[in-house]
Amino acid sequence: TPAVLDSAWLRRHPLPQHPEGTDKNSRGRVMLVGGSLTVPGGLLLTAEAAFRAGAGKVQLALPEPLAIPSGIAMPESSVFALPVSDEGEIAGLGTLPDRITCCDCVAIGPAMASTSAAGAVLDGLLPVASGPPVILDAAAVSASADRHDALAALPGGAILTPHVGEMAALTGLEPEDIEARREEVAVDHAARLRAVLLIKGTTTVIASPDGELAVYGGGGVGLATGGSGDVLTGLIAGLCARGLPAWEAVCWGVWLHGEAGRRLSERMGSMGFLARDLPGEVPALMRGI
Ligand code: AMP
Ligand code: MG
Repeated sequence: TPAVLDSAWLRRHPLPQHPEGTDKNSRGRVMLVGGSLTVPGGLLLTAEAAFRAGAGKVQLALPEPLAIPSGIAMPESSVFALPVSDEGEIAGLGTLPDRITCCDCVAIGPAMASTSAAGAVLDGLLPVASGPPVILDAAAVSASADRHDALAALPGGAILTPHVGEMAALTGLEPEDIEARREEVAVDHAARLRAVLLIKGTTTVIASPDGELAVYGGGGVGLATGGSGDVLTGLIAGLCARGLPAWEAVCWGVWLHGEAGRRLSERMGSMGFLARDLPGEVPALMRGI
């Protein structure tokens, strides 16, 4: 039977503690690779979520026309400009592969629309990824469909964060089939890819490569809103960078995201809050555990 994510579970899996003298590098350095000219702000949601989850530094690697505007919109971050295609997608990595070795967590894919562009990013970055886990979201999940070996070879493993549509693209299964057998599908594919895999939705299921399973069914319909998943990816990235192991980071991230939604719906109404409202709830939620 799956573990139910609640405050008792979280207390049994506490967050890393950072003593008073900790500097920002030790709090964890996050590298986010994503964005496109059709979703120019999505990576900023991921970045804020990573900071709110406690990461010390967040760097954004994104299409060149977005770099300076993003760095100004999120002055706490630094930016790395990447070449852009006529379609408005990332079209090259420059010296990024040399830089990701000094990050404590890398997340790839938020706010990218093109599977082929995400695939080229994976081909450049997966072979150089070192110890920490690599988070794959959105188009980077779909692009993982024909890169199973590269995922399974990652020294720190992968974390995949698909909704049902992206899970269908990853596995070739029909969405209805995934819906009907969510838990079984998550466990099978987590083992096969040697990854922590969650399948998002009204209920989210999370599977580890060695057969652990957890479910979270809270949050509410207000979370069904543009940018919501980009926030979840940032929370997981921030927690990984702080040193929480992949499985715990995903479980904590899903709970924080859902509880942020629950708190906003109590305060503002069950619908109409924005994805950008979610990260601000997170510090108090972490303190409450
Ligand atoms: P994405 O589709 O990538 O933006 O991710 C949407 C996020 O919102 C995921 O974390 C889902 O689990 C969550 N979510 C979407 N719809 C609902 C719903 N009806 N109830 C609860 N959570 C939801
Ligand atoms: Mg998404």
